[in-house]
Amino acid sequence: MITPQRYWREIPQRYRLEAGKCRRCGYVAFPPRLICPRCKNREFETIKLKDEGKIVSYTIIRVPPEQFSDQAPYAIGIIELDNEVKILAQIVDCNFDDIAIGKRVKIELRKIRTEGEEGIICYGYKGVLIE
Ligand SMILES: [Zn+2]
Repeated sequence: MITPQRYWREIPQRYRLEAGKCRRCGYVAFPPRLICPRCKNREFETIKLKDEGKIVSYTIIRVPPEQFSDQAPYAIGIIELDNEVKILAQIVDCNFDDIAIGKRVKIELRKIRTEGEEGIICYGYKGVLIE
């Protein structure tokens, strides 16, 4: 369950694929963090992630959590962006047979779901096959 406050606070990163790069050791945190998990440094530089990468693993969800029940079955994968950051995203606009490890995808911001009675629309990243 995602709260409106948390959602709105995260919007800049969500929309712009922004990550924090540690100024000391170079660790890239996405979403950005306050403290580097590798060296405990607190100084980050904001970098923009590449919007393309490759599938490193995926699975087909046939029995989803309730809020996604109208979308099942769907594919979800771990996508390694070109600067080595991995993100979890739904893989859309393709047949499941076309999804394979190593295939290249482009990351797009899409509507994920409408949350609750207030009708808050959640956006998130989805992967679209390039090849
Ligand atoms: Zn660091």
